[in-house]
Amino acid sequence: MIAEIICVGTELLLGNIVNTNAAYLAEQCAMLGVSSYFQVVVGDNKERLMYVIKTAAERSDVVILCGGLGPTEYDLTKETVAEFCNRKMYEDAHSKACLEQYFAARGLEMTENNLKQVMIPEGAKVLDNPNGTAPGVIVEEEQTKYILLPGPPMELQPMFENHVMTYLKGLTGEEICSQTVKLCGASESKVETQIKDLIDAQSNPTIATYAKPGEVHIRVTAKAANQKEANKIMKPVVKELKSRFGHQIYTTDEKVTLEKAVVELLQGADLTIGLAESCTAGMLSARLVNVPGVSDVYKMGVTTYSNKAKRTLLNVKKSTLRKHGAVSQQTAEEMVKGCAQLTGADVTVAITGVAGPDGGTEEKPVGLVYIACNVKGNIRIKKHQLKGSRSKIRENTTSLALTLVRECVMEYLSRVTFGKK
Ligand code: ATP
Ligand code: MG
Repeated sequence: MIAEIICVGTELLLGNIVNTNAAYLAEQCAMLGVSSYFQVVVGDNKERLMYVIKTAAERSDVVILCGGLGPTEYDLTKETVAEFCNRKMYEDAHSKACLEQYFAARGLEMTENNLKQVMIPEGAKVLDNPNGTAPGVIVEEEQTKYILLPGPPMELQPMFENHVMTYLKGLTGEEICSQTVKLCGASESKVETQIKDLIDAQSNPTIATYAKPGEVHIRVTAKAANQKEANKIMKPVVKELKSRFGHQIYTTDEKVTLEKAVVELLQGADLTIGLAESCTAGMLSARLVNVPGVSDVYKMGVTTYSNKAKRTLLNVKKSTLRKHGAVSQQTAEEMVKGCAQLTGADVTVAITGVAGPDGGTEEKPVGLVYIACNVKGNIRIKKHQLKGSRSKIRENTTSLALTLVRECVMEYLSRVTFGKK
């Protein structure tokens, strides 16, 4: 089954808003095993909208349109689809009641043009929108189905998950399930090489790799008559991935992030953590704090951006800074020792690097980063040479730091288990 995504809005064409709906819808279609060959962005213009609908109808089974369901005269999507499909519009009593309730619950007055939103093409399915005013609509023609969704992502996403997913599954007659295996401390090209034989050999389940900052995700997707069958198809492949990547896999749960995996590891080991960040300046701290319940283990983090801060808060020696510079193995080591003293945490992390775009030298280019991790006196320092923009370098550094913490804590735990504390 082939789907085409049409995003409607002049704001999108002008670059005023980023087309996150296209990315979301494309990812969802891929997860559902629905092929998507074309994406179109078109302005709020009836003629051009008609043209792209016609083109999509010729080459796709399902056309997903988003945006332009609002009350203004610029919102044309529903009217244009109705005209294209030769359907009259009628005022839908159920949608009108929902709309009135929506306004009443918020103590707002409904304006006359809002009623435009409850005009529905004859014979269409209505998708309720508890998060906004415009209901979604599905118009079914023999050859092509048209799914119309509101533009705001906060309205579109729940509508997709609560209604459209089931509808698409019904059309394909198949259950598509996927499981994500998440790895840290590995590069995408290396991972792909390591599983090339699996990727080449499989058609159900399919296996695909996705590069994320400092991580690689492998998605295993199976098509089957039901979820149980799909799980049965995926199981041996996931087992094989586990045996190939071992400890590099930090989770097989879609909802678990790298920071969550690290926080759970610390909680399980009853270890506290403290941070001293220079070039990431609080970014690692912010990632840890994304995890609810982190206060069990996260004691304190400091941003020691200047040399003076490194000296006064972390006791980095003036001579070390003078001789080796702020971005050096020696400074990272003194920072992480100082951080342990300052925070009293069991595990401490220090980060120092050149985030760029300026400030790089031949000896210390932009992207040079040192990350140190200290677990109860055992220190490991890693040097990385990263590429990309300032924000990319900083983001990647936080993932590499989390990966290092994970490695060091797992090693500590294996030492403790063998009584060699
Ligand atoms: P409304 O009833 O709010 O007018 P609508 O269905 O008419 O909803 P639009 O008017 O096209 O939708 O867009 C409303 C807002 O939704 C935009 O200002 C933008 O913030 C967001 N939006 C629309 N399309 C997209 C998109 N493709 N990606 C991300 N956000 C979008
Ligand atoms: Mg609108």
